[in-house]
Order: sequence, then structure tokens, then C-alpha cells
Amino acid sequence: MECNDNRCPVHHGINPRGIQLTGIVVSDKAKKTVIIEMDSASYMYKYERYLRKRSRVPAHNPDCINAKTGNVVNIAETRRLSKTKSFVVTGIIK
Ligand SMILES: [Zn+2]
Repeated sequence: MECNDNRCPVHHGINPRGIQLTGIVVSDKAKKTVIIEMDSASYMYKYERYLRKRSRVPAHNPDCINAKTGNVVNIAETRRLSKTKSFVVTGIIK
């Protein structure tokens, strides 16, 4: 398959740098964009309980990767691609 996406980290000039994250795709509705959700839990000594945090990051989804809702993906920080996107999907784990 030919890749015509000029924001693809594999075939074209996107240079991932900075932090890398792993998360679950929770939305693939937008064109060439997926929403990645990451859960984390940190222990709070004062209350002796776990604090659950959740963060969502919009990431660019190149044609040749084409991640779908439910996929676990790696994303990497890159230059700002649009108003809200500064991450790109670099691979599907499962
Ligand atoms: Zn590509």
C-alpha cells in the first residue's frame, strides 16, 4: 500500500522527538486523528488510598497505521500538527 500521508512518521517528514507514551484508542471518529487515553494511579499517603488519573491526548493517525478504537498504540511527541495535535501514532501493539 502506498502511503500518501505527509504526516507519516515512517514514510514522510515527521520527526518524533520528546516523550513517548502508550495508551488505548478510545475514539477514531475524526479523520486521521485518534484519541488516546491513559490511566494512572498514584498512592496518596494522607488518605491511604489510590488516586486514579486519566488523561486524553489527540494524536495523528497515519493512513499506513490506521489504528482503530480498542487498539493499544504507541504515540510519540512531534511538532505541532494542528491546534490540538502534537503527537503521532508510531505503532499498534495489539
Ligand atoms: Zn506511511
